[in-house]
Amino acid sequence: MKTTRGQLTGTAIRDFALAGNATLTVQNPNTGNRFTFKIRCKTNANGKKSPHFVSVLNGSDNYSNYAYIGFIRDDKFIWGGGKAKAGKDSPSVKAFIWFWNHIGNPAPAEVWHEGKCGRCGRKLTVPESIERGIGPECAKLNGAAGAPKKAQPKPAPADDRAGRVEEAREIQRRERAEAKRAADAKEAAEEAATRIAQGNARRKQLEADHRARREARAKAKAQGQDTHDAEVAAIQEKQEAMRKRFGLA
Ligand SMILES: [Zn+2]
Repeated sequence: MKTTRGQLTGTAIRDFALAGNATLTVQNPNTGNRFTFKIRCKTNANGKKSPHFVSVLNGSDNYSNYAYIGFIRDDKFIWGGGKAKAGKDSPSVKAFIWFWNHIGNPAPAEVWHEGKCGRCGRKLTVPESIERGIGPECAKLNGAAGAPKKAQPKPAPADDRAGRVEEAREIQRRERAEAKRAADAKEAAEEAATRIAQGNARRKQLEADHRARREARAKAKAQGQDTHDAEVAAIQEKQEAMRKRFGLA
């Protein structure tokens, strides 16, 4: 199997080391001493990230023979104390402390990735990926390759306040518009009701007038009198009654 391990340089070292699932080999170029470390960060269900746990390869199986030695939090390595499988003065822990204290650019040690993506652990194949130790998709997810990861900028308090004021204004605008719409609708409904009531009253009046005319005509006819005069008289009587009823007479 063709090896795809590659040497990391500059800022790519820290990016790779903190990518979340990194296996890297640190070699002292003067003595040739080297250690392979695994640095893993876990994300829980709520998206909260654990510290970066550091373990050292201590056996022939470079998949499973790793011993926990400590963790990195806020960019500082802290030896794992009672839980660490190697003492604080053991060569591997001392090597890692020295490496992490000197991770700046240029690194005094040679640092190699082992051919697997530092974030997802998949085998690297493309030259650019091998150069930075992170696959193209994972590089996108972790930020631009080589660039130190920037924290998401928090909105400035002033902006936040301005945002809240604007939001309150928007709510007031909406409430005013809503109130106006409701008032307009109520007015329109009242007008419609008045129109309907007026129409009903007018229709009743017309019906009453027609009835009075019909009755007067029938009565006059039966008595052999002039039907037209009788009709006119009946309407006048009816209208007189209306005027009295409304206090107009
Ligand atoms: Zn990956």
